[in-house]
Amino acid sequence: MARYKDYVAAQSLEEAYALNQKKSAVIVAGNMWLRMCGLNRQMAIDLCRLGLDGIEETQDAFVIGSMTALRALETDAALNAAFGGAFAAALAPIVGTQFRNTATVGGSVYARFGFSDVSALLLALDAQVVCFKRGAVPLSLYQKEPWDRDIITHIRIPKGQRAAVCSVRTSATDIAALVCAAARSQAGMRMVLGARPARAMIVADALAPESGADVFEAIAARTPFGSNLRASEAYRRKVAPVLMARCAQACREVTA
Ligand SMILES: Cc1cc2nc3c(=O)[nH]c(=O)nc-3n(C[C@H](O)[C@H](O)[C@H](O)COP(=O)(O)OP(=O)(O)OC[C@H]3O[C@@H](n4cnc5c(N)ncnc54)[C@H](O)[C@@H]3O)c2cc1C
Repeated sequence: MARYKDYVAAQSLEEAYALNQKKSAVIVAGNMWLRMCGLNRQMAIDLCRLGLDGIEETQDAFVIGSMTALRALETDAALNAAFGGAFAAALAPIVGTQFRNTATVGGSVYARFGFSDVSALLLALDAQVVCFKRGAVPLSLYQKEPWDRDIITHIRIPKGQRAAVCSVRTSATDIAALVCAAARSQAGMRMVLGARPARAMIVADALAPESGADVFEAIAARTPFGSNLRASEAYRRKVAPVLMARCAQACREVTA
């Protein structure tokens, strides 16, 4: 259980950022991860009054507020139509509907969980993380960095891509033993593997869309995997080419 002595619903991003510079403070989004961490902090900073929830479609991108619930991404018709239903497929296996109604995209991206389905898909889609102070940072960079004290305001996803996600779970709603996400754009196909069990990483970029089993096996052979209680390194290496082939096939089939 997490304990916070003071609770502040920030009235502006400036206020939230200033308060968050103290190590005794913490940003609280849906509190779905934090509440399990046994944290004992002086101050919880809530972003709920800052209008950061919502999905906006512009001419060339989807701009998603960091406080947007995972369930909103899963069910958003325009977002799913644009990316071949990849958000519905990626997010539906996460815990349960009530959980996804509260967990947020900002909390998921900030935390950089090694098991994250959310980060794997966003990484494949070449998303940008828009931070209050730093501005827009490619997720491919943000994902590798240590936790900082900036505030994510939005996630920006460029349009014009086809995407697909596959995961393997020991049982439904469990954390994935392996996640694969692919996105196909004019530049070629980008392939991401997550739950290796480590932070999702781009394992191939600008692949030819018609790449076959030999290519995916070569990628799996050079990708770092590990073992944990959900799967062994050998299992992950064996299954990865199958997931990549399924994602590639789905990217070839769905329409952008
Ligand atoms: C039991 C359980 C199972 C899960 N299974 C999966 C799974 O299978 N797949 C998957 O992808 N995910 C899974 N998750 C992760 C989940 O989807 C959320 O990513 C996670 O719970 C974060 O929740 P939250 O949005 O409520 O963030 P919080 O718990 O409120 O915050 C998480 C972290 O992000 C920081 N933070 C939040 N918002 C911001 C912001 N805007 N700017 C800067 N920092 C911020 C907080 O300070 C905190 O450090 C699971 C989580 C739990 C608890």
